[in-house]
Amino acid sequence: MTKFVFITGGVCSSLGKGITTASLGALLLARGYTVKLRKLEQYLNIDSGTMSPIQHGEVFVTKDGLETDLDLGHYERFTGIDATKDDYITMGMVYNQVLKKERRGDYLGATVQIIPHVTDEIKQFITKDSEVVDFVLCEIGGTVGDIEGQAFLEAARQIRIDLGTEKTIFVHLTLIPYMSTSGETKTKPTQHSVKWLQSLGIQPDLLLCRSERDIEKNALAKIALFCNVPQKRVIIGRTAEDIYQVPLMYHEAGLDTEVCSYFNMKNNVNLNNIKVSVASRKEKCGSNIVKIGIVGKYLELKDAYKSLIEAIRHAGFALNASLEIHYLDSEKYTKKDLSILNAIVIAGGFGHRGAEGKINAIQYARENKVPLLGICLGMQLSVIEFLRHVVGIPKAGSTEFEKTPEPAIGLITEWEHFEGYKTKGSTQQKGGTMRLGAYKCELKENSLVAQLYNHHTIQERHRHRYEVNKERYGAQMEANGMIISGTSPDGELPEIVELKNHPFFVGVQFHPELKSRPFEPHPLFVGLLKAGMDKI
Ligand code: GLN
Repeated sequence: MTKFVFITGGVCSSLGKGITTASLGALLLARGYTVKLRKLEQYLNIDSGTMSPIQHGEVFVTKDGLETDLDLGHYERFTGIDATKDDYITMGMVYNQVLKKERRGDYLGATVQIIPHVTDEIKQFITKDSEVVDFVLCEIGGTVGDIEGQAFLEAARQIRIDLGTEKTIFVHLTLIPYMSTSGETKTKPTQHSVKWLQSLGIQPDLLLCRSERDIEKNALAKIALFCNVPQKRVIIGRTAEDIYQVPLMYHEAGLDTEVCSYFNMKNNVNLNNIKVSVASRKEKCGSNIVKIGIVGKYLELKDAYKSLIEAIRHAGFALNASLEIHYLDSEKYTKKDLSILNAIVIAGGFGHRGAEGKINAIQYARENKVPLLGICLGMQLSVIEFLRHVVGIPKAGSTEFEKTPEPAIGLITEWEHFEGYKTKGSTQQKGGTMRLGAYKCELKENSLVAQLYNHHTIQERHRHRYEVNKERYGAQMEANGMIISGTSPDGELPEIVELKNHPFFVGVQFHPELKSRPFEPHPLFVGLLKAGMDKI
């Protein structure tokens, strides 16, 4: 019978609930159990697509096209399980659903309320198709006490009543601060956050105490006593040097052992099966450092490029490479910043700001034969740069930025020939109207990418509105040495461009970083890094 693990957070945000959920998932998998990882996000946004990456980090896209927050990326990278639309819900989606039902007359006669209508909607999400796995891990976003998240906690409380303690466990993540003035660890914030949970009818079964240092036995005993949790289930969650070592650390601290013994489940863990920790533990080869630059404009918050940074690191694990990632603000970097790099990634993005700086970096990489990977907007700008400076169309541009007589990049709806692609970009609505999720792409024989992928057909995840206008500019691009080496199966939409006569110059309309895992690095990033290593 399926067990439900609810993961809540107290005291403050950024304690690593996402990494904890992902790590517990990896540990249960290593014990041979099956899992689903789900996130309940308390915001009223209907999805994460319209949220600023500078406030919230990157928008992660599932293969079936849902725009979610970056925790789903951790889930996938730690467990190797592709998330779907059934694994992420925001409070906005919940209300949207309830209000739609109300309009449709589904509740006819009833007064529509948080309890039971909103909570029932949440319970349906949590339990959907749960019977096919041993565990559903359910991360409740936000911090206990946030007004937006209360209905999630209430739904979880009801599930505990419905299914009983044999099938539900509440894991509460909390912070144990250290006061250097008195030389003490402090348990009071934890006591308060547990009290808050209790006042909502939830008694945590296991406390995971996040701490920068070891916690003394007597402090743990105090937490157990005041929070009403057996001492063996008060577990220290030390901060790890590398996120991929967290599963192993949590295992050593007893997390999965206690969760399994709570449920009387007997499978042992095989440490070699914690794939994520094994893959990331490889020795780095030392002195030769590959310097990879990310040219982007959302650099105030590194989480805006979370999957990208991780994908580069995964390639590093595969090649045993020591990496140095340089962040170049597309509006501020200098020639000198570029000149020390062994490889460059042009990140995706939206809007005109910063685009010209990215184009200059692309020109530099093309002319100086520095390995380059252009992602999404990065690919579109590679095409613009090539048309402007090689083909000789100085006004080549994108209609995303401004009206242009040479719309190399545009909405399909702006073209003469767009049968079959009409829906995208054709409404005034912003949210959820892009080409989202996994699409097939056919690779050209003998191209660099066909070699790297070692396949004819691939599937990659998309998140964009604009496309390269192959019909109008494709022939000129190819005649001058920019090969369209990947297209949609109907041949209409360029998915990949690459340059002949360059060690590694690849632009992709999709986001390869979303599919990279520590134990399954993405071929494009491995290719880029290899080419970069040759440049040292
Ligand atoms: N702004 C571009 C588009 O919408 C690229 C998006 C991206 O880089 N993810 O097509």
